[in-house]
Amino acid sequence: MKAAPEAQKRLLDLAELDSVLDRLAHRRRNLPELAEIDEKSKQYARLATQVIEAETEAGDLAREQSKAEHDVEAVRTRADRDQKRLDSGAVTSPRDLASLQSEIASLHRRQGDLEEVVLEIMERREAADTKVTDLVAQRDEVRAALTAAEDRRDASLQEIEKEAGEVRGRRAAVAAEIAADLLGLYDKLKDQYGIGAAMLHGGRCQGCKVALSIAEMNRIKAAPHDEVLRCDECRRILVRTSESGL
Ligand SMILES: [Zn+2]
Repeated sequence: MKAAPEAQKRLLDLAELDSVLDRLAHRRRNLPELAEIDEKSKQYARLATQVIEAETEAGDLAREQSKAEHDVEAVRTRADRDQKRLDSGAVTSPRDLASLQSEIASLHRRQGDLEEVVLEIMERREAADTKVTDLVAQRDEVRAALTAAEDRRDASLQEIEKEAGEVRGRRAAVAAEIAADLLGLYDKLKDQYGIGAAMLHGGRCQGCKVALSIAEMNRIKAAPHDEVLRCDECRRILVRTSESGL
């Protein structure tokens, strides 16, 4: 392939801009916020599940308490009714009286037992409610940290994108100056090797840093200026400039 030396030198400008774009892409992929967001997202998911579990437990206990309170109320109502019957004097048979009194006593004991149950549930419910409050606070704290990390990530991405946009603009301007066949070769090599062109400097290809043999240097010295050379080692386009020492 033939191309004017000036056009070949423009490939080095293109390679420089492409390496800036590569560095920006690398920064974009390796933002410290990405790992933080990943970790916080997992923490958040775990806490959200724990909150639901704790809320379910607290809800179950609230229902259990209201059922136990209802039981207490039913026993108290029955005891009150028996007491009224006793107080009314309607029951006169000593055997019925004894039976009624024994039932009232038994109902009072039962009421006492059920009230104990209510108290025990209330204690468990208080602990469950505290657990819900703690977990909700932890979950919200992680959510806030996650949102902050996401905001920082977005700000960084925006900054990188702005810079990349400027570099892409400059790259397009340089690429427009290069003939289609040379640019096509450069782009193909860039896709294959990461960098499409490198300068010959100090007897070395600056792409792979391999020193060229004397025979290779002689071949290059003898080559016409407009011939597009390739590095034998890395296959990149080898660009000769005034700094190449030829
Ligand atoms: Zn090379």
